[in-house]
Order: sequence, then structure tokens, then C-alpha cells
Amino acid sequence: MLRARQSRSVLDWFKRLLFPVYCLGCGSESDWICPQRLKQLEIMSDRRCAICKKAAIGGLCPKCRKLTQLDGVIAPLDYQNPLIKQVLSTAKYDGGWDAITCLSAALHEEIIRRLPEGDWYYAYIPQTKQRSAKRGYNQSEIFTKLLANERIFLGIKKIRETAAQATLTKAERRTNLKNVFKVVNKPPEEIVLCDDVITTGSTLSAVVRPLRKAGAKRIWAITLAHD
Ligand SMILES: [Zn+2]
Ligand SMILES: [Zn+2]
Repeated sequence: MLRARQSRSVLDWFKRLLFPVYCLGCGSESDWICPQRLKQLEIMSDRRCAICKKAAIGGLCPKCRKLTQLDGVIAPLDYQNPLIKQVLSTAKYDGGWDAITCLSAALHEEIIRRLPEGDWYYAYIPQTKQRSAKRGYNQSEIFTKLLANERIFLGIKKIRETAAQATLTKAERRTNLKNVFKVVNKPPEEIVLCDDVITTGSTLSAVVRPLRKAGAKRIWAITLAHD
């Protein structure tokens, strides 16, 4: 069960006073998702695979673990829930990046509880410079910063623009991402990759491969939702 943040900073309070936010679920003036709707959100256990939904440990079945080269996935929310879909697409396409803060704050405790103990550094899926300039922000970066407490590894670069993964078939998704990400600094041994949604895992996996080659030993992924 999720809880809304207990307190807001004074700055947050003034911001809401000037720019009120209405719950995407019920329309009440509150947050992107009001406390009542937050409580109703279903959380998927990490005993189910975030990708294929079969029985799993640490959010990945043996097959998907091998395919993605990830050691574990934390993806508590269901992207097929219309409310989650709406919050995440608001964050992605409508400049409402603040929407991610609401979900991430509510999920924070649950996410940290699921992550095994380790000397973790966090990293996000980078965008090309052109894409960042166009949208003005990277929602994966925002989510990472909310979790990371300054422990961020910045040595991953995206070296060319790619077609949107959502528009492609499974096979096309893999070739689309071949050699797209490059690791330019020596990575820490334990890394958590953060993104908003996991679908086939191919984007995350395209980052995992060069990270492993560069020396990362244990790599987990945290996404807000699974598709
Ligand atoms: Zn509501
Ligand atoms: Zn699986």
C-alpha cells in the first residue's frame, strides 16, 4: 500500500498555491494522484517477472535475466492501469515532469526495501543532446535524481538518435538500439539503472551490455511501472 508524502517543503506549498494540480484520477485539487487514489494502486510483487510476468526472484525470471543481462528489476506499478499510464505520459509528453515526483515519493520506501544491500550508484538512460534540447528535460534523469542522493554515475552517453521503441516490433527494437550507448568513464561495480517504464527490457539491456564490458559487476533496474 502506498502513502502520500507526509509533508511538503514551504517552497512546494507556495508552488501549489500559485499553480494548483488536480488529481488525474478524480479531479480533486491535491496532487497528480490524490492520497485516496494512491492507496488504491496495486503493487506487483517482485516474485513476478517485470517483463513476462512468470514466477521470478528479484523481479526477473531466469530467461529474462539471461536475455537482458540484468540481475534484478524493481517495477512496482502496472502501466496498463489507465491512471498510471496517464501520469507517466503527462510526465513524458506534456512537460508535466512534476508528475513523476508524486509517484516516486509514494514508491520510495517500497523501492528501497526491494533493492539488495550494496554500494549502489544510480544512472539514467541518456538522451542525445538534440533530444534533451527539444524536450528540455529527460524524465528518466528526473526519476534517478529523486532516488539517488547524489550517487549518480554520469559516464553513459547516447551516441545517435533512434526511432521511438514503442513504434517498433520486438526484433526491430533490438537492432534499433545496437551500439547506441557508450560508456565513457570507468563505471562503479554496482549500478542501478532508472527509467519510467520497462516493456521488453531492450532499452535497459542496451545500456547493461556496455556497462558490463566496462567492468560493472552487479546491475539492477528500477522503473516506476512494468508494461
Ligand atoms: Zn483523486
Ligand atoms: Zn520473464
